[in-house]
Amino acid sequence: MWPGLSRIILHLLAFCAPFIVIIFFHFHSDHGLLSEIAKNFALLGFVVLILQPVLGGRFKWIERPFGLDILFRYHKYMGVFAACLLLIHPLLLAAGGGGLHLLFSLNVPWYIWLGKIALFLLLVNIGLSLYQSSLHLKFEKWRLGHDALAVLIIVLAFTHSWFAGHDLKILPMKFLWVIALGAAAVTFVYHRIIRPYRLGRHKYSVADVQAETKNVWIVNLSPPEGEKPYDFLPGQFHFLTFHRDRNLPEEEHHWTISSSPTQKGYISSTIKELGDFTSTIGQTRPGDTATVHGPFGRFSYLLHPEEKDLVFISGGIGITPLMSMLRHMRDTQSTLPVLLLYASEDEEEVIFRQELFEIEAGGFPRLKVVLVLSKPRKDWSGEKGYINRKIIEKYTEGRIKGKGFYICGPPGLIDLTLRILGELGAPDERIHIEIFSFL
Ligand SMILES: Cc1cc2nc3c(=O)[nH]c(=O)nc-3n(C[C@H](O)[C@H](O)[C@H](O)COP(=O)(O)OP(=O)(O)OC[C@H]3O[C@@H](n4cnc5c(N)ncnc54)[C@H](O)[C@@H]3O)c2cc1C
Repeated sequence: MWPGLSRIILHLLAFCAPFIVIIFFHFHSDHGLLSEIAKNFALLGFVVLILQPVLGGRFKWIERPFGLDILFRYHKYMGVFAACLLLIHPLLLAAGGGGLHLLFSLNVPWYIWLGKIALFLLLVNIGLSLYQSSLHLKFEKWRLGHDALAVLIIVLAFTHSWFAGHDLKILPMKFLWVIALGAAAVTFVYHRIIRPYRLGRHKYSVADVQAETKNVWIVNLSPPEGEKPYDFLPGQFHFLTFHRDRNLPEEEHHWTISSSPTQKGYISSTIKELGDFTSTIGQTRPGDTATVHGPFGRFSYLLHPEEKDLVFISGGIGITPLMSMLRHMRDTQSTLPVLLLYASEDEEEVIFRQELFEIEAGGFPRLKVVLVLSKPRKDWSGEKGYINRKIIEKYTEGRIKGKGFYICGPPGLIDLTLRILGELGAPDERIHIEIFSFL
């Protein structure tokens, strides 16, 4: 059985729960058809909404078969889906006999007001999430607001349905509603309070911080005294919160684990200065500590053992998960053929340059490194410009179909490569991508 199937079935069953209760207890209402449909939209919308904390709560059992990026995107689409259902609910009620009074009059019962406010806040929350970067809203502020609004929306929607909902008059339905609210509350408290507290009691310490290129840093972390680093697959990522006094910010960010599980005793991340937080990463010092939550993700060659001929395509900092895999192949003496097409501005910007060529020379894996430089020095004799169809065809010698592709880099490189591979006939299931953003 496909491993994700049990999660999907459970999720669908949860959606059906209120309808099962209604059918099972032969609960009839004598409202018209439109009002019945309106009620069902509200029931489904509420269940989708109340399951959102479970989707956003980074639970490994749920994430494992899909990957966190897919789960977070699903969480986003489900939020929009819930909003659509809940937006249609009052419109259908108005059309089914409630009249315009229900929509526009100020003189409606207090619990109807709560429903209206919940719907308004839901639309605000979704708008802020979809347009966070265009609104230049700092991620940390967005996340705080997102959580606070989510709690408020669920409480308001619950109270509205409890008092306004005809179906909520029967005891089993009340029972289901209380269980759903309780589960959402426990999930939220666990994700935001209990888990961080527990992880905080097993802090890793910064062993050293090295400059890899002029704006990229390698941070090595040692596990707590007497513990081993946690298990992960090469290519996975984790969430790190650095605790550095000196007035440096304390934020949780996600970075690939660029070391390999074969490198015992420590884990490392390779971090590029890209924004306000990462520009402080070079000020991290040995002895600082970090809370670690991971591993996550499905971008690992170990999950696709059937692929025996690999092409890694990367740009800039996107090399980190591929490097973890290459280090793993080196240390396990893998003889897999791997072609690495790596785009950078110039030779100085090439992250892990020396180690990549050492792995190539070592013969494990059978690696060929092709650097593609957009601003090379005059004497550069290798590939110039950007990764394009000609370069992919040249180095894969036109043999696309039997290969597994791993792509990580800026969104432009990923989009372009996906288009080229599609044109060249690479099967979708053999193309694996890692995008460095969940939004
Ligand atoms: C799966 C994955 C793996 C990654 N691996 C690496 C890696 O190995 N090396 C590397 O250098 N970068 C990696 N990144 C990107 C890295 O997470 C961002 O560059 C970094 O969080 C930006 O932080 P900033 O505040 O300095 O930048 P800003 O310019 O302030 O933010 C840029 C964008 O980063 C996102 N972001 C900002 N703060 C947070 C936060 N606290 N939590 C989550 N997202 C945030 C937002 O989308 C924001 O729009 C990875 C991202 C993902 C999703």
